[in-house]
Amino acid sequence: QAKRLGRCKVHCYSAEMAAQMAKEQGLAHQLKQAINNQEFFLVYQPIFHLQSGMITGAEALIRWRHPERGVLTPADFIPQAEARGLIVDIGNQVIDMACAQVRSWIDQGLPLQHTSINISVKQIENGDLVEVIQAALERHHVPAESLEIEVTETMLLQHGKSMVAQLWQLRQLGIAIAIDDFGTGYSSFARLKNLPVDRVKIDRSFISELERDERNSSIVQAIVSLAHNLDMVVTAEGIESHYQYQYMKSQGCEAGQGYLVSPPVPAVKFEYLVKQRWQQREHDLELEPTEL
Ligand code: C2E
Ligand code: MG
Ligand code: MG
Ligand code: MG
Repeated sequence: QAKRLGRCKVHCYSAEMAAQMAKEQGLAHQLKQAINNQEFFLVYQPIFHLQSGMITGAEALIRWRHPERGVLTPADFIPQAEARGLIVDIGNQVIDMACAQVRSWIDQGLPLQHTSINISVKQIENGDLVEVIQAALERHHVPAESLEIEVTETMLLQHGKSMVAQLWQLRQLGIAIAIDDFGTGYSSFARLKNLPVDRVKIDRSFISELERDERNSSIVQAIVSLAHNLDMVVTAEGIESHYQYQYMKSQGCEAGQGYLVSPPVPAVKFEYLVKQRWQQREHDLELEPTEL
């Protein structure tokens, strides 16, 4: 049997598949180098309060400054990093970089409520996420309350006891927990109510289809009202138009994120955007004190 499989290996793999495998091995090797050479960096996307328009939070999103290919986005390397078990090391660097950035923002007096980081299921399976985050918070003197972690709905659906326990531990430290890409995983709210979730992020697919398909409005309305009943706040992902902004605001959704306000940007640009919006608001208040 083994011999047959061995022979099949030679005959059945096409040149194309071999090339693909070599490419993936190359990528794994490059990812290891990238971890050692610290080629990863974070960009930050504003999360804004829909009522006031103020930027109240940031989502940290990873980028890879590849020595030959330029800047790569998560879709180019996160799946391979997860498959090769490299996402834990990468994720640890993300946690450290984000905490360093939050410290700097606190020192600058930037008025932010939370900065969120995306967590891979592998980081939770690894078992030491709570310790890693706690150590990074201490190292950078960052209060747990300024950090939020995002886990996807699909991750929560496949959750085991250990995952839920770790989320509760993080929540006990003071870290907020958000469910990312909500609406795509068919989770039951009965299950959600037993999880330590503070925020629901409605997946971009529902927001982008709002104008085109009536049924998305019903889905969005249902998510907002159910989340509120469970004492969770809601963020709409991928707001690209004024219509989407106004619609989500009218539904009582608290926060938004999307290209309409800003794509993910380097930290310095992010700081500029936050300050610009505050200055605009102060200006407006001076003009119309009775209106607000
Ligand atoms: P996500 O957490 O759902 O992040 C939102 C993604 O939507 C980002 O893509 C962002 O650039 C994009 N986006 C935001 N607003 C808009 C919009 O108005 N229109 C459109 N078309 N897109 C918008 P990005 O940065 O490429 O990240 C993709 C995914 O990669 C993230 O989805 C997240 O799941 C994952 N990811 C990012 N950073 C990390 C990380 O540090 N660790 C892990 N494990 N995953 C990460
Ligand atoms: Mg996210
Ligand atoms: Mg998301
Ligand atoms: Mg998403």
